[in-house]
Amino acid sequence: MERVFAEGDRVGVLLTEPLGRSLSGTLDYRAPEGGCGTGDFVEVPLGPRRMVGVVWGPGDGSFDMARLRPVTRVLDARPMRAELRAFLTRAADYTLTPLPAMLRLATRAPGLGESAGMRRVYRLSGPAPNKLTDARLRVLEALRGFGGAAVTLGEICDAAGCTSSVVKGLVKAGVIAEEDAPRDLPYPDLNPAAAKVQLMGEQIAAAAALTAAVAQGNYGTTLLKGVTGSGKTEVYLEAVAECLRHGRQALVLLPEIALTAEFLTRVEARFGARPAEWHSGVTQTERRRLWRMLGEGSAQMVVGARSALFLPFQHLGLIVVDEEHDTSYKQEEGVLYNARDMAVLRAAICGAQVVLASATPSLESWVNAEQGKYTRLDLGARFGTAELPEMRAIDMRDERLPANRWISEPLAEAVKARQALGEQSLLFLNRRGYAPVTICRACGHQVGCDDCDARMVEHRFLKRLVCHQCGASKPVPDTCPSCGVAGRMAPVGPGVERLAEEVAERFPEARVAILSSDLFGSARALKEQIESIAAGGAEIIIGTQIVAKGHNFPLLTLVGVIDADLGLQGSDLRAAERTFQLMRQVAGRAGRAGNRRGLALLQSHQPDHPVIRAILGGDEEAFWKAEADERRAAGVPPYGRMAGIILSGPDVAQVFDFGAELARLDGPLRRIGAQLYGPAPAPIARVRGRHRVRLLIKADKLAPIQAAVSEWLSQVKPPNAVRIAVDIDPQSFL
Ligand code: ADP
Ligand code: ZN
Repeated sequence: MERVFAEGDRVGVLLTEPLGRSLSGTLDYRAPEGGCGTGDFVEVPLGPRRMVGVVWGPGDGSFDMARLRPVTRVLDARPMRAELRAFLTRAADYTLTPLPAMLRLATRAPGLGESAGMRRVYRLSGPAPNKLTDARLRVLEALRGFGGAAVTLGEICDAAGCTSSVVKGLVKAGVIAEEDAPRDLPYPDLNPAAAKVQLMGEQIAAAAALTAAVAQGNYGTTLLKGVTGSGKTEVYLEAVAECLRHGRQALVLLPEIALTAEFLTRVEARFGARPAEWHSGVTQTERRRLWRMLGEGSAQMVVGARSALFLPFQHLGLIVVDEEHDTSYKQEEGVLYNARDMAVLRAAICGAQVVLASATPSLESWVNAEQGKYTRLDLGARFGTAELPEMRAIDMRDERLPANRWISEPLAEAVKARQALGEQSLLFLNRRGYAPVTICRACGHQVGCDDCDARMVEHRFLKRLVCHQCGASKPVPDTCPSCGVAGRMAPVGPGVERLAEEVAERFPEARVAILSSDLFGSARALKEQIESIAAGGAEIIIGTQIVAKGHNFPLLTLVGVIDADLGLQGSDLRAAERTFQLMRQVAGRAGRAGNRRGLALLQSHQPDHPVIRAILGGDEEAFWKAEADERRAAGVPPYGRMAGIILSGPDVAQVFDFGAELARLDGPLRRIGAQLYGPAPAPIARVRGRHRVRLLIKADKLAPIQAAVSEWLSQVKPPNAVRIAVDIDPQSFL
């Protein structure tokens, strides 16, 4: 029941900024003239400022009624539903995040509360004149990039990097039309009956199971496991269709923005119209529109990044998490949450179905299915005649390559063979830049970041050394910063840019494309590159892990993994799982078109390593079982629970002292049987000038770890300069 408050009643308002003096996170105000209700978005005074918040319930009485200030106004936005408020509360409890910070994730809408009116928009309307200034060219390019959509002046200027006078000039010249349009147009209707693809075999049964679950209208999670190309997308789009038939809203989460364009086209093919989009590349105008339309229940389907989980759906019926194993679902900055797990939480609260789709599920999901918490559906074969690629290792111990070469003879031969057939090869190396290390041949000094405990990576494309921790960069030094000797600085090891040099030498006539996230200024540029490759624009593709994420290159029949051992080093508890997933995903890029079987060649110095053998052997269930057994024996996730505590501060001794103090006060942790490790310097011991110290908590699967951790941390106040980040279910241990 939503409570309604009469004018003057005491209400508790949750703001989007943590306030030290309020324990509950809410502040008391008086209800304004006309009253207000729970869930209302309101503007309130805070000191001299005005802030936006949400009426969370009755006030807690902590403030003298006589001095209570009234709510300034109730905003013209659909009130936040009880379901979303419950989700935020539980997500905050789970991740040990202050509720205001959680609310901030759910209020990222520009112009919230502005009334819906008209706005001035611009679109291309006439042919471009022959002679154009640079700025004018950029404006036209930006407008074309928006795909014919009408956009605001600010959006054009941002995209084109120009002033408004350039746009106005083009309006005068008749090239751009300026008009008033209603804000926030509804989205076109998606038609669930517009199917063109006829499902086959296992796909039919899987789709039937999913649609039946959606039709039930209650909570449930299904792991949809199928090799790349088996038709998982086609199958879960049927679940979306069923959801739409029931008048409920569907959300599809994708791990990578660059994948959305291709996906939207598929949705359009399936439903006859495009769904709404939500990610960092979406314009402010579109964000605002989506917010409004969701509130009115007229956006039927949203395709988005993890933050779309916090949107104000009115009757969410289905959440699909595509490539559910992808580590980018874990937000590693600010609020630390795993979108896959939060999707399950939100669905459980609002009675929706969840589909977790992957060719290589996370061990967490695999175990949940094994234990019957999730339903599991398998698609075993590739659609049509397409077969899974053949996989082989190349034993690099026999290859004796010179120090600055990374492509073995057998791999080079295989590439040449594909070239002769007009097919594509992918050389996979999960390392951005030119060389991971720059070393002085005179003294052995390795160039590091000034502010981080990290070596700087040479990026020849940028002509600089870049820190992958903080983004700082500096020119490649000619003299050694340590010994002062000139002309002896040398790159060591390969990155994709260096690999490209070797490819250019060995295959001088080949058309080569590099796919690495840092080489593209924008998501649009990356998308264009991907489309051009898919159309056959390159014979050899050199790529980092972004190529592993579901792009479809029909001409690609060979995948060469330059260093299959790369992920096996290190002590990360998921190293084996990650390598297995990544290698199988990358290999799965080969031979998707169906007329020719793909081949994956893994260059390895340890081809007998159990993980490499498992990858080649292809017995996935055996791999997961073995991996699960090891985790169970070690009592680590998914069989045990962990929380990481990262302390950071400018003064290393102060950070350690505080860590040691916390370790001494471990009573609350011991009481739940948890073990505490550390404090220890984090593997990356310094980032942006702050020293980092880690503590790790290991507990039983069922132990109330959140309650214990928050009791433990509440015992002492950290020194002002020391920050605490709590990471429940950590994925990264750096
Ligand atoms: P996944 O999501 O498992 O990688 P997709 O759903 O993308 O697989 O399917 C792979 C390709 O096969 C896509 O181009 C898809 O359109 C096509 N496909 C899958 N199933 C069918 C079907 N039953 N009829 C026609 N095309 C299909
Ligand atoms: Zn740095």
